[in-house]
Amino acid sequence: MTSPLYASVDLGGTKIAAAIASPDGQIVCEKTIPTHSHEGPQAVLDRIAGLINELAAKAGSRPAALGMGMPGWVDLAGGISKFMPNLLGQWRDIPVREILGPKIGCPVYLLNDVRMATLAELVYGHGKDRPGLTMVFFAIGTGIGGGVAVEGKLRLGAFGSAGELGHLTVIPDGPWCSCGNRGCLETLASGPAITAAGVRVMLLGHAPKLHDLTAGDLSRVNPRLMAEAASQGDRAIREVIQDAAGYLGISVSQVIGTLHPDRVILGGGVAEIGDLLFDTVRQTVKERFHMFPPDDVLILPSLLGVRAGILGGVALAAANGLVK
Ligand SMILES: [Zn+2]
Repeated sequence: MTSPLYASVDLGGTKIAAAIASPDGQIVCEKTIPTHSHEGPQAVLDRIAGLINELAAKAGSRPAALGMGMPGWVDLAGGISKFMPNLLGQWRDIPVREILGPKIGCPVYLLNDVRMATLAELVYGHGKDRPGLTMVFFAIGTGIGGGVAVEGKLRLGAFGSAGELGHLTVIPDGPWCSCGNRGCLETLASGPAITAAGVRVMLLGHAPKLHDLTAGDLSRVNPRLMAEAASQGDRAIREVIQDAAGYLGISVSQVIGTLHPDRVILGGGVAEIGDLLFDTVRQTVKERFHMFPPDDVLILPSLLGVRAGILGGVALAAANGLVK
């Protein structure tokens, strides 16, 4: 008997990634298409159904279930989209499971996209062969998302929203955050926050290497080029990255004090800064956390990188969702 295949969708503000895979995470076929979220939920869900049916035909097998990551708050038990701040119309109370299920002929399970990436790390990445792992995942990109796994199990909370690590306060009365609070980690260490600080330093004339790397074009500044400029000798840019990583280190310290996890995983595009980011976070934890030795908490990059989202959907589908 052949093992069943599962479908996965990672719905983003600009693109939809989909795949058909076996339960051990081997991708059979995959495709990415633009979201065109301005067309509204019905049109987007129609296109997702078309995409899954196309992949199922290619795989020669109908998936046993679909796991779908969504960029916001979802009703897990009901399969209903509740609030997607970055999709047009915010997808309030859209019965995604009810609409999509009949079109693709299998059950549909929903989860927040970063919780889904955390599930992927748990099943196929850092948690693989480590049953009972307690792990915290920071996804640092345009925003900062997160996920928490306690003793081998994803912590969801009543709304599936546990793990909003980007909205821990690190500076009281700091910059306004899109969530309505001030001084959240996201306002200080996300990609746009780091980029904005880099642009400022470049405008002040303190970033000659970054100026060269971007040919003086401010719109080309990003955290990856800033890390490159820092390694080439731009001290002020190095300090900008270290400041952001220091704030991240403060949040990591708080999480260590709360959970004493085995591992803290830093993923998302900003984690590609590499050593300068990771070393500063580790150093900050050493300097700030004293209640027990935090040396056994490993602070590491994601093992799955950009594949985490899509693999999380496979894990979610293979588990028949996480809410029974
Ligand atoms: Zn916030």
